[in-house]
This record gives sequence, C-alpha cells and structure tokens, in this order.
Amino acid sequence: MISESIAMTAPAWSTRTLLAQALGHVDPASRAVVPPIHVATTYIRDPDNQYRSGNIYGRPDNETVREAEAIIATLEGAAGAMVLGSGMSAATAVFLALSPGDHVVAPEVMYWGLRNWLINEARHWGLNVELVDTSDIEAVRAAVKPGVTKLVWLETPSNPLWDLADIAAIAAIARPAGAKLAVDSTCATPMLTRPLALGADIVMHSATKYLNGHSDVIAGALATAQEDSFWTRIRRVRATLGQILAPLEAYLLIRGMRTLDIRVKSACANAMELATRLSNHAAVASVLYPGLPTHPGHALARRQMQGGFGGMLSIRLRGGEAAAIATAAKLELWKRATSLGGVESLVEHRGSIEGPGSPCPMDLLRLSAGIEDVEDLYQDLDRALRAV
Ligand SMILES: *Cc1c(COP(=O)(O)O)cnc(C)c1O
Repeated sequence: MISESIAMTAPAWSTRTLLAQALGHVDPASRAVVPPIHVATTYIRDPDNQYRSGNIYGRPDNETVREAEAIIATLEGAAGAMVLGSGMSAATAVFLALSPGDHVVAPEVMYWGLRNWLINEARHWGLNVELVDTSDIEAVRAAVKPGVTKLVWLETPSNPLWDLADIAAIAAIARPAGAKLAVDSTCATPMLTRPLALGADIVMHSATKYLNGHSDVIAGALATAQEDSFWTRIRRVRATLGQILAPLEAYLLIRGMRTLDIRVKSACANAMELATRLSNHAAVASVLYPGLPTHPGHALARRQMQGGFGGMLSIRLRGGEAAAIATAAKLELWKRATSLGGVESLVEHRGSIEGPGSPCPMDLLRLSAGIEDVEDLYQDLDRALRAV
C-alpha cells in the first residue's frame, strides 16, 4: 500500500526529519503528500475469495491507522506498533493478554486511572497485582517471582511525583524471571527515552498527550520489541474488543506527530526554566522535577533521558492544600484542567482528582508546561502564588 517512504531510503534521516514528513509517505493513487483518511469498514474480496490487500474488516484493519503505527514504530525503534482508542485501552489490552493467575508487578505511584483499574478491576480477570516502589531496584527484585510473574509494568517519569524507574536494570530482573517488561512512556515521549533500546518488551503511550499534542484526540499506542506470541495476543484483544483507533483520530494523530520534536523540546526547556525559578519562590516548599539536581531520580534521569527531562513538574506549596487550590484558581494563563502534553499549559490539583488512597500529597499542584513564552508562564504563576 505504502509506495514511497523516506524512512526506507538512505541516508538515515533524523527523527525530526522523519516526523516532519510523517515518514514521507505519498499516497500511490493521488500522489498526495498528506495521507487520505480511509473510512471503509469493509473491503472487497479477490475473485478467488482471498484478501490479498491484507484488509478484511474495519475493526482489525485500517490503512490510516497503519500510517500512524508506522510512525510510532519508527520513533520507538519497534518491530511493530498498534494504536488504540485511548491510553487506557492500550494499557488494559496488555493486561488482558495475560492469563488468569498471572502475577503482575506495577508501581505504587503511577497514572491514577490505571492504578485504580489494577487495584479494583484486574482481579476480576484473575490477575494478581502487586504494587511496589519501582524507583527502588531492590523492591522490584524482591517482588518479581521467577516463572510466576508474567509482567512488570513501569511508568517513568511517573505521575505526579516524577520518580524515575531504571528500565535497563529492571529489564535485567524481568527477563531471566520470564516476565515481560512494559513501560508507560507517555511523559518521557520517544524524543527523550527509548524503552525498547533499554531492554523493555513493550512501550505504551497515552497518545492523547505529547504524541498528538493538541488536546483534541483521545488515543493510545503500543510498540513492541518483537512480534511474538504475546504481541499477537494483544492484537487479538484489540481486534475482538474493538479497541482500534478510529480513522479520523488516526489522521489527527499523524498531523500532531509531525511537530513532536519541536513541541517536546520547547516544553522541556520551559519546564526546566520554571522548575529552577520556582525552586527559589517563597511560596513554594519544593519542586518535583527530574531535571533538578535535588530530585531523587536526577542521576538516573541524566542516563535514561536524552535531550531533556520532560515537560511535567509538580510544586508543593508552603500554604498546604488550601493554598494549592487557591493558587490554581488565581491563574489566568495556565488552564485549570486535567490531562497534559498539549501545546497549552495546564495546572491541576491532583489530590482532589485522585481521592483517598492516592500517594499524591494534598499540597501539590501538577504543571504541564506547554510551548508558550516561558516569561508569561512564570509571571502568571508568580502573580497567583503571591496573591494567595
Ligand atoms: C493520560 C494518561 C494515561 C491514560 O491515557 P488516556 O488516553 O487518557 O486513556 C495513561 N498513562 C499516563 C501516564 C497518562 O498521562
């Protein structure tokens, strides 16, 4: 189907170049430089009843979806990629590909929606989930049971404290134990960390966030080091449960990814500058950002993240929970909203979202640095912090 692609030509173009041209695919029928949105739900059989196009039915097969997947596979250095209807559907497809009785190790501090699903729902599928501090290698080593643990799940940096997990070190624990290693790399993005190159088996993204980057698509992505039987099983989960990304969303995701490199670089630079300046602010008790030397994951972040420490940071306020909520209310430029990774800066009091049992301190505000002028972003924060 895909007749031409700069990804297949020498020399090896940089990621930024490949992204800008969405791998340089040209539509063979029209010669269009932008891929068409394929909306068909069904495809013609060959006269001898075969499906040589590879397309049978819209629930498993869509060419616009495959274009988005080719880009993500290239970004992650993966053997294959899949896009799904949300980050949660991507994550749960991995867990639903396991078998009843399988033991899973996952982080104590992670995206709350998946944490809730693992605590409350995963047992209905017979999964035995153990949450540990994945920033502590020895805690992971103690939790992984050879032959019993089938999946180790990581999120790095992890919501909303931005702790780091050492992918290479944990891969060296998981692999000999016979467990797959999957990494939620939403906040690292493929621009900063390549989990598969560090030994992970599967990478997951909420493509709703940085990959799309414009707060107008809900999408998820998975990429795999090998197209093995586990990957086939995940593919079957997506196909049978109807979790494939819709074609219009796949098209928007392709458009968003064209600027991923410049958006991530800009968000990282803004986050680093804001973290540094907020560290010296009288109203701020502490800043949680892997780029700061004071952050417990800083040394690992320097090894594991290339080109920046991400666009996400959190601040803890001296005035406690009331001051955190009041500060968010006084911001004008920063939008009070959930989600992250868009071009616009967002602020959120996570504690009120995550509810009881959350490891998130109540005096914390989570900041998703966008790509606006950093001076404007800081002035808005400073004004709100002083006003409270
Ligand atoms: C948002 C998010 C998810 C869930 O993704 P959806 O697209 O909202 O389903 C998972 N992990 C992380 C780190 C996220 O930020």
